[in-house]
Amino acid sequence: MVEIKLKKGKEKAVYQRHPWVFSGALDKVKGKPENGDVVKVLDAQGEFLAYGYYNDQSRVAVRLLEWDENVNIDEAWYEQKVNTAIDGRAHLLANEATTACRLIFSEADFLPGLIVDRYADFLSVQILSSGIEKAKETIIKVLVKRLQPKGIFDRSDATARTHEGITAENGLLWGENPAEFIEVKENGIKYHINIAEGQKSGFYCDQRDNRSILASYSTGKTVLDCFSYSGGFSLNAFAQGAAEVTSVDSSALAIETLKQNITLNQFDAAKHIAIQSDVNKQLRQFNDEGKKFDVVVLDPPKYAPSRSALDRAARAYKDLNRRGLMLLESGGLLATFSCSGAVDIETFKQIIAWAALDAGKEVQIIKQFCQPEDHPVRLSFPEGEYLKGLLLRVV
Ligand code: SAH
Repeated sequence: MVEIKLKKGKEKAVYQRHPWVFSGALDKVKGKPENGDVVKVLDAQGEFLAYGYYNDQSRVAVRLLEWDENVNIDEAWYEQKVNTAIDGRAHLLANEATTACRLIFSEADFLPGLIVDRYADFLSVQILSSGIEKAKETIIKVLVKRLQPKGIFDRSDATARTHEGITAENGLLWGENPAEFIEVKENGIKYHINIAEGQKSGFYCDQRDNRSILASYSTGKTVLDCFSYSGGFSLNAFAQGAAEVTSVDSSALAIETLKQNITLNQFDAAKHIAIQSDVNKQLRQFNDEGKKFDVVVLDPPKYAPSRSALDRAARAYKDLNRRGLMLLESGGLLATFSCSGAVDIETFKQIIAWAALDAGKEVQIIKQFCQPEDHPVRLSFPEGEYLKGLLLRVV
């Protein structure tokens, strides 16, 4: 096994169990590892620190896996990690009202670069590191043994892969192909998911808890669900008796799927307005028309993919939230989210405070939103915390 020595002082983060070793921390590479190989990481004195996946194309040169020198990174190791991750979600798997959840969440589950989502009888997988790519066959074998899915579908067409120097993939890995739309349930609400073509791995199960929290504020209300995708917030609002829901998304497939989902749940389509449009443009139009809503949801895509994009993203979040707040009157509610890991909760609060000031609204935080239990955050890896949100009441 190739050994990699770190520069003096660079062992500290490894001791603290942070799973990333940046390329600048490497001193000597003894041998010629291929990208994705498991290597031994040593401190400046040559003492063992951890095992990890090597990649010379990535800013993160080694993704750490294991801190015990006596352990082999073999099939039994992968099986143990996969089983531990799934055992932790056993109650979610046993819950018949929810058949969509994340089973493996990358670093948080000690499998850096592997995401596995369960959608009813199928698994949707994203392989985002060269190490996991190399271990793919073993991982599939272990997943099949544990879960006996109907099929495993690869949705690794994510930009993260290009940072690792591996090409995008999209296709069947094992078993049978899912139908164009398969049905899942989340808290009893039915959704059609297009695993092959839908966004990310097909669905955003990270908003499960937040959708049902928000729904409890939607009874009898007019709700505007911006960036609705397949309708997570819209459908939950209907389930709790919203008077009218307007959903806005720029994606045609999202709007088509959302309309199917309204029918699937037998909600009253006459109370639903689906608009395929750019959210900012639509909000401007609503403001020009003097339109008001009781509840506004803003769940935009990741505006800040990295820290360097923070300034631009802050402006985009501020403009969006200013426009959203202007549609609310006293007592109105804004549920606003950021899924940018680079924007922490305190920064997000600051941005929203500016937006409120510009909108001429005084607001109170009445709840904070976070990611659900199947997207856990390892304390030793704070970067894994990405989803945050605020529920604000206009005074
Ligand atoms: N709220 C959704 C998830 C939102 S994901 C849920 O609960 O499932 C972000 C969504 O924003 C995607 O569906 C994407 O199509 C949409 N989107 C991205 N940019 C947009 C824009 N400028 N205007 C409208 N929709 C946009």
